[in-house]
Amino acid sequence: MHLDKRDFRDLLFKVGKRSLELAFPSSIYCICCGNLIDPSRIYALCDDCLQNLRWANERTCGKCGKALENERKNELCHDCQQNVHWFERGFTCMQYGTKEKEILHRFKFNGAAYMGSKLGKIMLDRILLEELKIDFVTAVPMHKKKQAKRGYNPAELMAKEVAKGLCVPYNGQVLKRNYYKAPMNKLDRNQRKLNLIDSYSASVLYDIHGKSILLIDDVYTTGSTADECSKALKEAGADNVFVLTLAAGVN
Ligand SMILES: [Zn+2]
Ligand SMILES: [Zn+2]
Repeated sequence: MHLDKRDFRDLLFKVGKRSLELAFPSSIYCICCGNLIDPSRIYALCDDCLQNLRWANERTCGKCGKALENERKNELCHDCQQNVHWFERGFTCMQYGTKEKEILHRFKFNGAAYMGSKLGKIMLDRILLEELKIDFVTAVPMHKKKQAKRGYNPAELMAKEVAKGLCVPYNGQVLKRNYYKAPMNKLDRNQRKLNLIDSYSASVLYDIHGKSILLIDDVYTTGSTADECSKALKEAGADNVFVLTLAAGVN
C-alpha cells in the first residue's frame, strides 16, 4: 500500500488517538484530573473537579459574560465600560484559572479530541439557559496549517456538539482565517488588535443576512478574536452574533 503524506498524517493521527484512548479512555477517567470516575458522571468530571472548577455562575458582565468581582456594583466589566464590542453578548462557562487552563491544554495540545463532546456539553447547558434564537452555530477558525498539524480545531469540536444540542446546523465554512500572524498569547491588548485586523472574513458563499449566529471559541481574554469574527459576520449582514466560550479571564 502506498501512503502519500496526507494519508500518513491521518494514519498517525488515528494511531495516536487510539493509543491515547487506551491510556486515557474517555469514559472512565475525569477529563480534568484523570482520576477514575463512574462513567455516568456528568461531563466526565469527578466530584472534586466539578466542585473546584471555577464556574462562571455568579455575577457576570452583561455584555461579554466574564465573571465580575463580587464587590463591583457595575453590571459591566471594566473592559466593556471602555470598549464597544461587535457581538451582542458573550457567555462563558468557567473562569480561566489554573485548572481550567490544564483542561484546555490537554484538549488542545495532547490530541485529546474526544474531550470536544464533553466540553461541548458543558457549553450547550450554559447557552440553553439563555433561550436565544439561533439560526446556526460556527466556530473561530484556525489557520489551515495549524489545524493540519493539530489534526482538529478544538473550537469546532465543541461547536458541533452545541449545534447538535440546539438542533440547528453547524456551519464551519462561513468564517475564514485569512493569514497567519504572530501567536496571540504573548501580545497585549493593542498588539492583539493590530495583529488581528482583517484576519477573519465571512465567506461570500453563504447569505447570512438577518441571521442570528452563535460563535464558539475556547477562551475569551481581551475579546479581540471574538470581535474580529463578529465584525466580519456583522458586516456580511448577520443580525446578531452571540459568543460562547468555555472559559474567560476574570475582569
Ligand atoms: Zn477530576
Ligand atoms: Zn465585559
